[in-house]
Amino acid sequence: MQNHDMDFGFIDDDSLGLGDTDFENRIVSTSFGVGDETEVSLRPRRMEEYIGQDKAKENLTVYIEAAKMRGDSLDHVLLYGPPGLGKTTLSGIIAAEMGVNLRVTSGPAIEKQGDLAALLTNLNQGDVLFIDEIHRLPRTVEEILYPAMEDFALDIIIGKGPAARSIRIDLPKFTLIGATTRAGQLTTPLRDRFGVLLKLELYTPEQLSEIVKRSASILGIPVSEDGALEIASRSRGTPRIANRLLKRVRDFAMVQGRSEIDEAVAMFALERLEIDELGLDNTDRRMMEAIIQFYGGGPVGLDTLAATIGEEAITIEDVYEPYLMQLGFIQRTPRGRCVTRLAYEHLGLKPPASRQSRDANDQLKFFEEGISDEG
Ligand code: ADP
Repeated sequence: MQNHDMDFGFIDDDSLGLGDTDFENRIVSTSFGVGDETEVSLRPRRMEEYIGQDKAKENLTVYIEAAKMRGDSLDHVLLYGPPGLGKTTLSGIIAAEMGVNLRVTSGPAIEKQGDLAALLTNLNQGDVLFIDEIHRLPRTVEEILYPAMEDFALDIIIGKGPAARSIRIDLPKFTLIGATTRAGQLTTPLRDRFGVLLKLELYTPEQLSEIVKRSASILGIPVSEDGALEIASRSRGTPRIANRLLKRVRDFAMVQGRSEIDEAVAMFALERLEIDELGLDNTDRRMMEAIIQFYGGGPVGLDTLAATIGEEAITIEDVYEPYLMQLGFIQRTPRGRCVTRLAYEHLGLKPPASRQSRDANDQLKFFEEGISDEG
């Protein structure tokens, strides 16, 4: 119970997103991919090392302190936000701060009720079970999670037909940490069973710059202030991308015989990687250009857009859109996706005269019709 064991043994290749699609191969992909193996050594282990997310951190610190004072386990926690923002990292920190073990698994990796039962019965009192992509848990598995979360008990049916009987197995009091890219995809009964809901936000360039400097010092790569900020401002608000870009920029710096990463070499490397000054790559530009070229700037439905650019709708929603929306380049309206005047300007195109008033109009309707940001 007291060893701060981080057991990542349950992660399989699939749950880490080690796919080989174009998206996975993008340098600015938010998924864990080939070359990200050092990520484990870069993971902050304690709360004070975890940069940014101040609101989530402050609240969690209070809950952890209170649970420790009561000598109780922490309430179940749901972390939501785009990939690569530090959900797995934060769950490791929670376990370390509570002084308990962490077991890591993911929704798609748990196929049967028995898989979850095996995981839960092997936990010690107070342990943290982290389920990544919890919205992808099979329905039958989710059903046995309800009593496990609420009563710390498993109701298992043994046998079939008239001979079937239910037995109840008591579980140790554990903390479930669920992670999802979108809280709206969770079923209501599951969402209601989490006591703490925390939304992780995209990071500011300044926060990412701190992360780049921290990672650089762990990896032994000298980096100047402006070099770190240059990498940070092209990392789409995502620490996983910042760490990956740092390593690629280091390669360019080494080949050029530079002793440190400064602004010039960072700019040179990022241009060679075709990542523009805002962190957008070819796919982002292709998506915005497709909306402009084929759909007059929008609106265009998500599925139509996905088919046009050959990407999965879910990838567009989870990965490209959050950042493009944060930049104000894309809007979600009831009738579909639209690019804004800012996007035209960024692409060096002239916005149609009607664009600005249409943008404002669509945005207004969007709120009036009360469409949630999950749609
Ligand atoms: P997620 O589970 O949300 O996909 P991870 O927790 O795997 O994201 O984070 C990806 C990487 O980004 C981690 O290995 C870690 O090095 C880095 N990272 C994430 N959040 C932070 C943070 N707040 N401070 C420092 N590094 C971070």
